[in-house]
Amino acid sequence: MAYSLTKKFLTALSSNFPADFISTDAADLIEYGRDWTRVFNPAPSAIALPRTTAEVSKLLGLCNTHKVPVVPSGGRTGLAAGAVAKDGELVISLERMRRLDAVDSVAQSLRVQAGVVTELVHQHCADHKLTWPIDFAAKGQCQIGGNIATNAGGVKVIRYGLTRQWVLGLQVVLADGTILELNGALEKNNTGFDLRQLFIGTEGTLGIITEATLKLTRLPNQLNVALFALPDLAAVLLLFHHIRQSPFTIAAFEFFNSPCLDRVQRHRHLAAPFSEPAPYYVLLELENVASESLENWLMQLFENELVQDGTLAQSETQARNLWALREGISDSLTATGLPHKNDVALPIANLEGFCDELAAVLGREYPGWEITIFGHIGDGNLHINVMKPDELAIEEFQVNTAKADHHIFTLVQKHNGSISAEHGIGLLKKPYLTYTRTDTELSLLRSIKRTLDPLNILNPGKIFDI
Ligand code: FAD
Repeated sequence: MAYSLTKKFLTALSSNFPADFISTDAADLIEYGRDWTRVFNPAPSAIALPRTTAEVSKLLGLCNTHKVPVVPSGGRTGLAAGAVAKDGELVISLERMRRLDAVDSVAQSLRVQAGVVTELVHQHCADHKLTWPIDFAAKGQCQIGGNIATNAGGVKVIRYGLTRQWVLGLQVVLADGTILELNGALEKNNTGFDLRQLFIGTEGTLGIITEATLKLTRLPNQLNVALFALPDLAAVLLLFHHIRQSPFTIAAFEFFNSPCLDRVQRHRHLAAPFSEPAPYYVLLELENVASESLENWLMQLFENELVQDGTLAQSETQARNLWALREGISDSLTATGLPHKNDVALPIANLEGFCDELAAVLGREYPGWEITIFGHIGDGNLHINVMKPDELAIEEFQVNTAKADHHIFTLVQKHNGSISAEHGIGLLKKPYLTYTRTDTELSLLRSIKRTLDPLNILNPGKIFDI
């Protein structure tokens, strides 16, 4: 049953916070009650907009006393419905918490409030020739707190790893309002359980992240970007084997199939990269490679017929244009149709076997449907999207995709993969969690949740039910 705020709680809010702290504006309720997914109807009771950690602490203390369920909200670009408020919850938006401290260029670290937009962190660090290397197409809207709460991946994981490797310290507010300072700015701190890591990737179910000390790294001096056209998925994997055995540092190895390219071109009005279309494309980014050795390596690729066609960016603009073909995919799929999204991970060694069997499952479950498949294949991460056929009713589409997901996840389980590589579980993938997590693990996760949030007020119903 949907929750609604009591008079007593509303009176407590108005006597503790300024008048602009809460919004119940109808447009705000829709906007702040949903994320990038459009599966559930947004229906929060109100939106709270704190400016400081002290306000978040006081607010959560009151919510705990009055048993008010809350949904932490970042940039709402999440793809698992983790930030969706559909049952009268109070949304707590971090968007007013946007303080960026000075970059410490010796320690290579930066303290920020959780509501800072990711791309602003990149811009802030660039003057110091440093970066926070978490990078993906939503960087202009998503927030540091959301990135940490989802342990975001992105296009540079193959080079730098996940968000959790780039967080030195966290400030977290617990369900009862207690403020924790975890690990400060320490690189090393071997004093038992690392509580900071416990909060990373838990989708706002254990605490609200209010500040973070980010670990930075040097911006690479020179990046070479190439796009290749390939005949099939086996060729994509062969190219990956080949580049992994080269002496080069891979900054990104991304792939997409031709329906993805068609939709990006249609939505963004971009020209085709090659004169002949191909079934698959790979975007490769290499770091600090001498041009002679790169050209020799590229020649070998063509001589050995490892690729059908290829182009190497000759300027920053050309590199940006090639990246636009890859980075525009998520946005273009949503703008031109209705995708049903899956985000699976496989051990690299099992990718080939999984992909062979996947083709059979997709062909059987979705005969003649448009499948857009892309992602961070260098990390073993595939985004498998099924586009709703125009003539099919949305309810029928959802029944079909829910059934097919069980077949896809059975295959993922068989190949020791994960049903969510980087998007998280939220509400969307909750019914499938047992394909990746054992009953013993789930019962441990539930006992951690009960210890930290005994009244289950923090993002209730996300990841698992209690
Ligand atoms: P939100 O969507 O607002 O929230 C996500 C979850 O975190 C929710 O459960 C929410 O309750 C919780 N949360 C938010 N802020 C806090 C906080 N301060 N404290 C505690 N909990 C909080 N993801 C990837 O990993 N890799 C990609 O390559 C990638 N590409 C994308 C491309 C596009 C075009 C889009 C739209 C999304 C993409 N995403 C990707 C998904 C998404 O951008 C990330 O999950 C991102 O990290 C979410 O950040 P956000 O601020 O938008 O969080």
